[in-house]
Amino acid sequence: MSKIYLLYQIKISPRFIEEVIAELLKVYDLEIIADALKLEPPKEAYNKLRNQFNSNILLSYYASHLKAKENDRIAIVLDEDAYVTGLNFVFGEALPGWGGIVYLPRLKLWISTQPSAKLIVERTAKEIVHELGHSYGLTHCSNPRCVMYFSNSILDTDYKSMFYCERCRKILDSRSLGHILKKY
Ligand SMILES: [Zn+2]
Ligand SMILES: [Zn+2]
Repeated sequence: MSKIYLLYQIKISPRFIEEVIAELLKVYDLEIIADALKLEPPKEAYNKLRNQFNSNILLSYYASHLKAKENDRIAIVLDEDAYVTGLNFVFGEALPGWGGIVYLPRLKLWISTQPSAKLIVERTAKEIVHELGHSYGLTHCSNPRCVMYFSNSILDTDYKSMFYCERCRKILDSRSLGHILKKY
């Protein structure tokens, strides 16, 4: 059975991660193994002028240090803000065939009312499912309810569901990846 390794920065509470996993198990019929991330983000990835990490550098750093078997995936959760060139920030970034990183600070932001703990868990799960979708070869989807819809802002994340739409599920099926999903 293929697996998802969910590695979280040590400053993140394991209880929060447990709640995120409970959400992920609504989507995936996979074993999800959580563990504390032993490698802290490297200083070279930090941009002092922007006060943010460069996500591209983090992704290549973690992808070169942490290897997963062919059908396994790695999802890293960092409580750090990150950007890629051309964007003010990113909620996450993925590497096809490997996995992805999700960044928490922007998922804790609020527009009108302060988000409940439950909402932050849901947002985190959605962004992990999104980045893992890229890692399984999916691109962005035009359906705003689909988890593969691109989130320009947290409002998009709140509007989309945590599930792959029928179209995206068919694409996974056609790549013999249908088995990774729960039937929903
Ligand atoms: Zn995306
Ligand atoms: Zn879709």
